[in-house]
Amino acid sequence: MKARYKYRIYPNHIQITKLNQLFGCCRYVWNSTLAYCNQLYSDGQKKPDYVDLTKQFITQAKRELIWLKEVASTPLQQSLKDLDQAYRNFFDSCTGKRKGIKVKPPKFKSKKSRQTARFVGKNYQVSQDKIYLPKVGKIKIVWSRPLASQPSSVTIIKDSAGRYFASFVVDTCVEYLPESENSIGIDLGISTFATLSDGQKIDAPKPLKKNLKKLGKFQRKLAQTELGSKRREKAQVRVAKLHAKVKDIRTDFLHKLSTDLVRKYDVIVLEDLNVSGMIKNRKLAKAISDLGWRQFRTLTETKCEKYGREFRVISRWEPTSQKCSHCGFQGGKKELNVSCGMLRKREWTCLNCGAFHDRDINAAVNILNTQSALETVNQPITKVETVKATVAKNPIQLSLFNKVAEGQTETIKRTRRKRQTGKLADSNDVSTRPESFLQLSLFD
Ligand SMILES: [Zn+2]
Repeated sequence: MKARYKYRIYPNHIQITKLNQLFGCCRYVWNSTLAYCNQLYSDGQKKPDYVDLTKQFITQAKRELIWLKEVASTPLQQSLKDLDQAYRNFFDSCTGKRKGIKVKPPKFKSKKSRQTARFVGKNYQVSQDKIYLPKVGKIKIVWSRPLASQPSSVTIIKDSAGRYFASFVVDTCVEYLPESENSIGIDLGISTFATLSDGQKIDAPKPLKKNLKKLGKFQRKLAQTELGSKRREKAQVRVAKLHAKVKDIRTDFLHKLSTDLVRKYDVIVLEDLNVSGMIKNRKLAKAISDLGWRQFRTLTETKCEKYGREFRVISRWEPTSQKCSHCGFQGGKKELNVSCGMLRKREWTCLNCGAFHDRDINAAVNILNTQSALETVNQPITKVETVKATVAKNPIQLSLFNKVAEGQTETIKRTRRKRQTGKLADSNDVSTRPESFLQLSLFD
């Protein structure tokens, strides 16, 4: 299983200049290649392959542009590789080979947005408190937690708030947590972030709502500045910093909640929400985006995978809020208006059995119950992946990395998953899957 480990780095003034130069060169290679490919497309020609593009936009360009030689060459090649991959994703999406949301064609990179450069192989080195990058030097790094194993690549990131990060891709293996024999259904909502089927209610911090006034003030100030001025640049950073803070608060909350749930429960069931569809509602967009439902699902799913828990999603068409979780009588929605005149209609009484329900808790219980009914009939909607014990092959060299515990290979072999369906057996072959890097650490 691939995972990302992200750490904050603190380059000095000289290193910042060198990093900016590196980002600029990566951007140049990407943008000039993209412009060339677009030109070919409008002329009715095909996109050249990666090797041809490298020859033209790195090898040849270096002869003409001296400044391209002043930076490490691996990130430039990686930049072209990324472009190649972006095109492939786009083409596959067009032909229907790639499922899911339609992929848009690659876009030009801007100087103002997030900047990245990736180093692979033996190009970079890490030590106790530094990371060495070729032609940049040794940058101070804070190891907020140990790396799981030796990384295969590192991406240097500069976000729009001006912070620098090093994001490593590492192989991790499943760490099984002790079984708790508990399952939980979760209903996500706007006023209460999560309602658990055992009656617990969890509120979200809603950082955007709290900072909306401040953000508005900063954005008005930004609008008053002159285009291209130093003041504008500063105002932009101030807005970006506030956005980063909002995002950090949200991510922190979601990380803590998802970890807590994964520790406590063996099976976690969510409802498949059409978040991108809901966001189209202008009145709700801001409130929904502030909660981070989708991120919560992604985090919970990856953590379930990491700790050997079961993660399930039930169809969004299941009548979870209309059904009485006590007797199964449907028509709750209708009764909602009739039987209770309470504010916001959060509670209702079942007309069939007379059970009194909290709407959210009832929905959470239904979500949990629906999955057990589906279990015998349907395949899991969300893919379940088993992991090959690849980590054992790569012995760990540096003391910075967590030693891979002996016997972990055996742990992986333990077939603890109760539901060994045919689909699960198919998904064993990890090599046929497109690489998906699970973002375990979005925020450190
Ligand atoms: Zn009932």
